[in-house]
Amino acid sequence: MNESELKVKSIEYRIRLLGCIKKAQAGHTGGSLSCVDILNVLYNCVLKVAPDTANDPRRDRYIQSKGHSVEALYVVLADKGFFPDSDLDTFCRFQSPYVGHPTRKVKGIEHNTGALGHGLAFSVGAALAGKLDRNAYRVFTLLGDGELAEGSNWESMMTAAHYGLDNLTAIIDRNQLQITGRTEDVCALESLSDKFAAFGWSVRNVDGHDVTALREVLSTTPFMAGKPSMVIAHTIKGKGVRFMENDASWHHGVPSDEQYEQAIQELQAQMREIGA
Ligand SMILES: [Mg+2]
Repeated sequence: MNESELKVKSIEYRIRLLGCIKKAQAGHTGGSLSCVDILNVLYNCVLKVAPDTANDPRRDRYIQSKGHSVEALYVVLADKGFFPDSDLDTFCRFQSPYVGHPTRKVKGIEHNTGALGHGLAFSVGAALAGKLDRNAYRVFTLLGDGELAEGSNWESMMTAAHYGLDNLTAIIDRNQLQITGRTEDVCALESLSDKFAAFGWSVRNVDGHDVTALREVLSTTPFMAGKPSMVIAHTIKGKGVRFMENDASWHHGVPSDEQYEQAIQELQAQMREIGA
């Protein structure tokens, strides 16, 4: 998939996930728009996963630790054929498996997440199992930046470095915001690169909305043999819809009819700009 096709995919995913949230009158809008370019590149360029090999022991594993942004994951999995797109119309409905956080009832989802601070620990276990089994699969996990306040992440980082898990890549959706405000005001994280390096990880920084840069970085793991890889993806919460960008109130805001129409028109204009 070339750069232009990837950009089109990102806009299509944004339109689709906003449609799910609007229909359900629920969802995590800002964080899904923030991470969807990362998921786009992972599923269309990097991960060796497919619906017909969803249970193959050799498949790559993707664990979405920031489980609340599940709308982004659902639209990508539907696009890759793990389930029909029409299933998304049941998002957040009574008895639908497409609930507001990932569960293994949905094909393609590896692990239940959403209680923050668990995804990295599970991913470390999965990566260690791969090493012990001499199985070449890789493990990728996506964390929110607000999620890094959970101490379990730092225990997991120490463990991953101790066992030299270079089959593990963690990606931080570094949008600078969490549910109640700016990360640096709520529980300061910086300097993240230095902290991750001190915990024994090999660290790269990337523009988390530049699909070409993301592909280059995520396709070159491990960055160093014998070390787990950390990607700090610098993103904008609410990316793609100007009135939602960099505004913590859109963490789980649902657009009104007027706002929804405005958002879709803005995204469609972006589509025309790239000639699609
Ligand atoms: Mg955040």
